[in-house]
Amino acid sequence: MAGHQKQHPLTEVLTKGFDPALSVGSARPAVFRTSTYVFSSPESAERAFDLMAGRAQKQPGEEIDLVYSRFNHPNAQIAEDHMVPLEAGATCALVFNSGMAAIMTSLMAFAGPGDAIVYTVPIYGGTQHLIQDFLEPWGIRGIAVPAGDTAAIDKAIRETQNLKIVLIETPANPTLRMTDIRRAVETTGGKALVMVDNTLLGPAFQHPLELGADLVLYSATKYLGGMSDLIAGVAVAKDPALLGKIRSKRSLFGNILQPDECWMLDTRLPTVNLRMNKASKNAQRIAEKLATHPAVERIIYPTLFTNDEQKRIFAAQCDFPGAMLSIVLKGGKAAAFDFLRNVRLARNAVSLGGVETLSCHPKTTTHSGFTDEESRQAEVTDGLVRISIGIEDWRDLLADFTQALDGAQ
Ligand SMILES: *Cc1c(COP(=O)(O)O)cnc(C)c1O
Repeated sequence: MAGHQKQHPLTEVLTKGFDPALSVGSARPAVFRTSTYVFSSPESAERAFDLMAGRAQKQPGEEIDLVYSRFNHPNAQIAEDHMVPLEAGATCALVFNSGMAAIMTSLMAFAGPGDAIVYTVPIYGGTQHLIQDFLEPWGIRGIAVPAGDTAAIDKAIRETQNLKIVLIETPANPTLRMTDIRRAVETTGGKALVMVDNTLLGPAFQHPLELGADLVLYSATKYLGGMSDLIAGVAVAKDPALLGKIRSKRSLFGNILQPDECWMLDTRLPTVNLRMNKASKNAQRIAEKLATHPAVERIIYPTLFTNDEQKRIFAAQCDFPGAMLSIVLKGGKAAAFDFLRNVRLARNAVSLGGVETLSCHPKTTTHSGFTDEESRQAEVTDGLVRISIGIEDWRDLLADFTQALDGAQ
């Protein structure tokens, strides 16, 4: 489908990157559940291996034989081609069998023993474990900087020796503290790669590549997948050569997403903007209405930010506030647990980004590994309940949260 005039993302996600003629005329992609591919000729096989090993460069428009599904397969390619129009500024994408696989493979493609990574905290628990308990013993230094602390991030980027990667997760979970992506890119000035975990607001509401970031990472388990029924990850970039380095590690590690999951993920991509828009509108209405409930100390939500720097970053880099909110209950842990027991529609589960609303108590679950100091820094308090708002009717959710709060005073 090369040579097309460029369309808008919502069109391209349905019209680009998939040729029905290669799926016996199927209007939507078929599943290619196969591990190995028949070569069209011995010469084509030789060419495919030369290209894969980097001994030759692909010519424009050249068709290359598929080889083996650990390296590449049609459903991975289709899902990747459909991710590209969704991520503003992207030219290429890679799918992985989890968000952690996308993060690990990207970090290990560009940092080795003796190198350093600057990363914002709080960061996803798995990412923190990966850096502290695996990469650090392996010889990579991890320098944690508080999310949203622009001065501290600038300082760490300027002063860190052998800095290879700046890894930003924004907004941070569960307090939605935001980090200025453009500022980090400017301070880094090309001396390291800037990678952004965009799981909470992307691809609909936050566009790191347009702000100068080199790589965008996703847990596609969340909004991209959207139905809480698969585990997947995606890496997206502007520069194909950069992504090519990650691709070769993916081939080595064997953590490409499997055909069935690629097909499932691909079926969800045309609706990710619709789902995120609906969930964000729901969340904003609910957050702003719950803010005055007598059992509530405060609601953490971007349109309710009070810190000037946080308000500035939100206005500068996010199109909409998103569908994550946290309720801080006045009554601490007992009230938070009462709330979770009382709530009927929002199931008590970790994860986020599904069409269904989920709620959890981070202090005793997702963030239970934090030291007291880390909890204090991250503002993960006893009374905090995190909610991932879904696409139900917001009035039913609001009524449910209100009755649950009434019983948690
Ligand atoms: C869930 C999540 C991850 C990890 O993704 P998996 O798909 O569970 O491996 C990474 N970053 C963020 C922000 C997440 O929410």
